[in-house]
Amino acid sequence: MVDLTGQYQKIKEAVDEGIQQVIDTTQFINGSATKEFASGLATYLKVKHVIPCANGTDALQIALMALGLKEGDEVISIPFTFVATVEVVALLKLKPVFVDVDENTFNIDVNKIEEKITPRTKAIIPVHLFGQGADMEKIMKIAAKYNLIVIEDNAQAIGSELEMEGIGSVKTGTIGHIATTSFYPTKNLGAYGDGGALFTNDDVIAQKIKIICDHGSAKKYYYDAIGVNSRLDSMQAAILNVKLKNLDVYNKQRQNTAEKYDAGLKDIPGISIPSRFEKSTHVFHQYTIKIAQNREGLKEHLQEKGIPSMIYYPVPLHLSEAYRVYGYKQGDFPVSEKIAKEVLSLPMHTELDVEQIEYICETIKEFVFRQNTVIV
Ligand SMILES: *Cc1c(COP(=O)(O)O)cnc(C)c1O
Repeated sequence: MVDLTGQYQKIKEAVDEGIQQVIDTTQFINGSATKEFASGLATYLKVKHVIPCANGTDALQIALMALGLKEGDEVISIPFTFVATVEVVALLKLKPVFVDVDENTFNIDVNKIEEKITPRTKAIIPVHLFGQGADMEKIMKIAAKYNLIVIEDNAQAIGSELEMEGIGSVKTGTIGHIATTSFYPTKNLGAYGDGGALFTNDDVIAQKIKIICDHGSAKKYYYDAIGVNSRLDSMQAAILNVKLKNLDVYNKQRQNTAEKYDAGLKDIPGISIPSRFEKSTHVFHQYTIKIAQNREGLKEHLQEKGIPSMIYYPVPLHLSEAYRVYGYKQGDFPVSEKIAKEVLSLPMHTELDVEQIEYICETIKEFVFRQNTVIV
């Protein structure tokens, strides 16, 4: 699905030098590499504060902790996402309230948010799924109307841009009150281990987040809040400093790959290529097609031809064993349930070449036509 070795070979010198520097200075925790990364990312995103932490799941948890919510307060998100988005809500004894997604963009269906708002609703966590921005314009309007906090889960869309009325084009993760991201190795901006960060333009929230990340202390050994230990270590930051400089190039390569996939797949009956939301760019963390019939057969066929593929995500969270306690049932989120049966993500990374993409498209075509012939 990804080729991190090929990518590393091209930046090896700079990465190795960065790691060596960390070792030479022995600033393993909160060293200059981490500070450089936080300020570099803030400049790149045009956001006031970037607070690095240990991973994207921590980032989400810390964002929620910074809001000072009470047990049972409700947080809106989607059932068709990676579990972390909702897991942290449950861990903090808040109540996950799901809103179904849009069948085409896979992002939160903004027309279904208001009906889920109650007096206990405190926050919305939109996810910019697969690399494409959710409809933040509408989400921010709803949030303003009901006085809700918006936490963007930007783990899959770093570098993507949204067109905002009256403001122009801005990076995802800089629109809500807080945003979170992950530097898990396979993410668009991936470290060589775990990493994450929070972003905000709000000085008060930023200060709270910093304190929570550091055991709840602003001054060493004085504790103002119950916090956690969540840091981005300097070696990961040194690697990320190199990769951040290449992020736009990496995203461009993904977009080029997506266009080639589009061209090769768009006329195959029964296959839907990823829809684009007109107000967002798409940085293709995943290139996800939909196939209405015999997805498992296609997956197997690809496997036989040496092509990996993945199902993100096979079970919507409301139907997952651990989340049944919230009382949701089959049929509650029909769009999520339907697409969970149809989606298939194809190999997507910065090192795919034209021949590989053509081979993948031809293999899919071969499967679909062979299957149709059999049915006829
Ligand atoms: C990867 C991911 C996370 C979690 O990030 P980790 O660094 O693995 O903890 C959260 N949300 C989404 C949407 C993700 O894709």
